[in-house]
Amino acid sequence: MTTDPFPDPVAPLRQTAEQFRGWLERNHEALEPFRHEVAEELHLSSARFRPLQKLLWDHGWHRLGWPVDVGGLGGSPLHRYVVAEELAAAGYVNPAIHGSVEIIAPMLIRFAPDLAARHVPKGVSGDEVWCQGFSEPDAGSDLGSLRTRAIADGDGFRVSGQKMWSSNGHIASWCCLLARTGDPDEGYRGLTMFWVDLSAAGVRVVPTKLESGASDTSEIFLEDVHVPADHLIGGVGEGWAAVMYLMQFERGAYAWGRQADLTTQLTELIVDHVDEFPATADELVGDAYLSLLGLRSRCRDTIGALAAGTNLGPAFSIDKILLSKAEQTMTEAARRLLSPRLELAGTDDAVAELWRSRWSFSRITTIYGGAGEVQRDLVAERLLGLPRGR
Ligand SMILES: Cc1cc2nc3c(=O)[nH]c(=O)nc-3n(C[C@H](O)[C@H](O)[C@H](O)COP(=O)(O)OP(=O)(O)OC[C@H]3O[C@@H](n4cnc5c(N)ncnc54)[C@H](O)[C@@H]3O)c2cc1C
Repeated sequence: MTTDPFPDPVAPLRQTAEQFRGWLERNHEALEPFRHEVAEELHLSSARFRPLQKLLWDHGWHRLGWPVDVGGLGGSPLHRYVVAEELAAAGYVNPAIHGSVEIIAPMLIRFAPDLAARHVPKGVSGDEVWCQGFSEPDAGSDLGSLRTRAIADGDGFRVSGQKMWSSNGHIASWCCLLARTGDPDEGYRGLTMFWVDLSAAGVRVVPTKLESGASDTSEIFLEDVHVPADHLIGGVGEGWAAVMYLMQFERGAYAWGRQADLTTQLTELIVDHVDEFPATADELVGDAYLSLLGLRSRCRDTIGALAAGTNLGPAFSIDKILLSKAEQTMTEAARRLLSPRLELAGTDDAVAELWRSRWSFSRITTIYGGAGEVQRDLVAERLLGLPRGR
């Protein structure tokens, strides 16, 4: 048998895309409930989309590109990103909970392989929901000043403190939580990451009501919570390395899935509502598509680098800036294209409600995952070598 001396590196990805497209077409009836997004509370939408996660896991699509050790089928992680894009392109909603798994699981695999082997299959298949507990009332942009404390105690640690803005917190069963194990003045060096059971004694989770009225995030109060030693993620003092590793996926890979969803949303808006558009529609739609295209081009390189195991350093801040820009440009275009319906229609208008909630969510894209100003500082100082502003 002769082997091809110049194999096409993207052929396996193209094959995955074609096979997945075929599967989606053959199963369109079973998948119909997952086609439509409506403005609804997180606990309702996550319950609605968890069966989709299960279906994709059971049929192997969500096992592609995950290591065999965590229940996957192996192969390049790029297969995961192909599946996410094809799902969105076919008009289905990528489950939000799956997005958070895509952020947390790679870090768990790298820093806590035993925990990953137990939890990644449950997270990817939708059996478990996870959240991140990094930010605190006085520590958001500056995580080095966080005060939640973890003290070694017998066969584990005792953790006390308060987290806030924890996305999915009130529907999650596990939290990757950053706490201080070193001296208070050690900054980023004295931090350690833990895998915390949110049903443990001493944990209280309180949903936060956002301006939109929805509750996507929570405060997590911890009082003398016992965390066993085998729930350490990485070693003591390695918390900052674990967070920075995770952030590559939160700011980089997450943006890939998001651009796929946003592009489909914009296309559907045009197909369904072009008759309602004002005369300025061409310019608005053009701006929105261009910003999404710019994001896609950038993220394509990023997911390629992540799949190759390249450490991106602060470069992934660029993806986060482009994501915020694209999401806000697209939803603002939608607001103007549907104006005044979007602003004035009552809650019985499902289209207006959905686009209002999307517009509202776009406002926070410059805050979650690291504030826009901080990302711009990182690009200016660490990538461009400009002088420090402060
Ligand atoms: C919807 C949502 C979901 C979130 N999900 C999570 C989550 O799952 N887990 C989690 O741990 N956290 C989460 N967060 C928290 C988020 O990461 C923080 O809100 C963010 O990092 C900003 O921190 P802060 O709110 O404390 O604001 P601050 O740090 O107080 O910053 C306020 C403003 O000051 C300016 N600023 C601060 N520092 C600098 C700087 N160095 N350079 C330039 N400007 C600066 C910026 O304008 C910034 O917007 C979420 C937040 C939101 C809104």
